[in-house]
Amino acid sequence: MGDVLKKVPVREQAPKVRATNFDEVCLGYNKEEAMEEASRCLTCKNAKCVQGCPVSINIPAFIKEVKEGNFAEAYKVIGQSSALPAVCGRVCPQETQCEGKCIRGIKGEAVSIGKLERFVADWAKENGIKPEAPAEKNGHKVAVIGSGPSGLTCAGDLAKLGYDVTIFEALHQAGGVLVYGIPEFRLPKDKVVKAEVENVKSLGVKINTNVIIGKSTTVDELMENEGFEAVFIGSGAGLPMFMGIPGEVSNGVFSANEYLTRSNLMKAFRDDHDTPIVTGKKVVVVGGGNVAMDAARTALRLGAEVHIVYRRSEEELPARREEVHHAKEEGVIFDLLTNPTEIVADEKGWVKAIKCVRMELGEPDASGRRRPVVIEGSEFEMDVDTVIMSLGTSPNPLISSTTIGLDINKRKCIIADDETGATSKAGVYAGGDAVTGAATVILAMGAGKAAAKGIDEFIKNKAK
Ligand SMILES: Cc1cc2nc3c(=O)[nH]c(=O)nc-3n(C[C@H](O)[C@H](O)[C@H](O)COP(=O)(O)OP(=O)(O)OC[C@H]3O[C@@H](n4cnc5c(N)ncnc54)[C@H](O)[C@@H]3O)c2cc1C
Repeated sequence: MGDVLKKVPVREQAPKVRATNFDEVCLGYNKEEAMEEASRCLTCKNAKCVQGCPVSINIPAFIKEVKEGNFAEAYKVIGQSSALPAVCGRVCPQETQCEGKCIRGIKGEAVSIGKLERFVADWAKENGIKPEAPAEKNGHKVAVIGSGPSGLTCAGDLAKLGYDVTIFEALHQAGGVLVYGIPEFRLPKDKVVKAEVENVKSLGVKINTNVIIGKSTTVDELMENEGFEAVFIGSGAGLPMFMGIPGEVSNGVFSANEYLTRSNLMKAFRDDHDTPIVTGKKVVVVGGGNVAMDAARTALRLGAEVHIVYRRSEEELPARREEVHHAKEEGVIFDLLTNPTEIVADEKGWVKAIKCVRMELGEPDASGRRRPVVIEGSEFEMDVDTVIMSLGTSPNPLISSTTIGLDINKRKCIIADDETGATSKAGVYAGGDAVTGAATVILAMGAGKAAAKGIDEFIKNKAK
């Protein structure tokens, strides 16, 4: 038995090795490690960790089962609240949610709730355990737009209640950001995402890929002509933002979303795929969030020298600490307090350099963070051949502009009720990044769950 104040350490690929491959960085717990870590849980009666979980998993109950070696039972407990435990165990920011509230964390390190969740989900998959399908259908049809975490959760919860659910997905593969955004080395696609999508399908959910709502058909047509009594919109926030600086349209400038999509979904990282991706020798990623870290670590694995250019200091980096730590360990170079002003292209229109200025931090701005201010005379130029812009995303207005009576706010986000997901249009519900703007997997799942309840109430009331 190790030090009870510390987490049982989790095995990882060594930084130098993993910087050259796309295999998963974190190797997870084995049975013995999981049981030892589970025994650190104090099984609090008034469990604060559950309050920190947006889908309210009964954390002490599942950990108790792990402690006793009852892994199938542990999976059942998690399955009551979450359709994507192998995903969440890997990518949730536990440090600010469940683990952030863990009483163990007051004196030592919090219980490794995320790694235990991941262990249980992986064990269930290896042992062929699937969630239980509902006994009977209730005869009501619901459409879900988007197969990201919000859509999958809403669809799964409705299917469990007996609804006949069809997901309409624009891309050729289901999973949303889980398949096109988050890289393989953090979230394996076949082993984890596809397996959890299959679990949702095993509840009876149908997934129609290559259907763009707003082009192939509309929300109104689904309701008026296709017999769907309610629609959930979980279409995410996939529209990238740019800086608006000169040279941004040059060849070799990508949005992080496009770069990651080419790598993930079109398998640019594999030798047996010929998807074009600029595998430049020197890549600059502009931005400091989780998406920037993913793009930087992907470019590094494709063989480039990678610089993160961010206008504030390390303290303000919005990415998770773990992601920054991993990126640094692997050799990503951080050019902090630096801001691009222009991208310089060669005579054929390809990026050859980026002009930047150095910044210092001034007074706090409206967000409470200290405002970066340009240092006079600090301009410099860096030779680069690829620039990846990772400055955030907003919802694509395609659905809101083609649905009659659907209200949006000035950030183009759909306006929906926090508790039920109800929008301004009767029978239409929404949640996830399409409502909040870019956020997290678990918040999207929480919104999908709330909307499933809202839709169930709406359809039951209509039938009365
Ligand atoms: C690179 C990257 C890394 C991230 N890392 C993390 C992380 O580590 N942890 C974390 O918690 N969060 C992370 N996030 C954020 C997280 O992935 C999102 O908050 C979450 O996926 C939002 O879920 P969603 O269901 O709202 O939307 P999405 O996952 O975006 O799914 C929306 C789906 O709707 C489809 N769609 C869009 N428009 C239409 C249409 N008109 N018709 C049909 N289908 C449509 C899209 O193709 C997509 O499949 C990351 C995001 C990115 C981009």
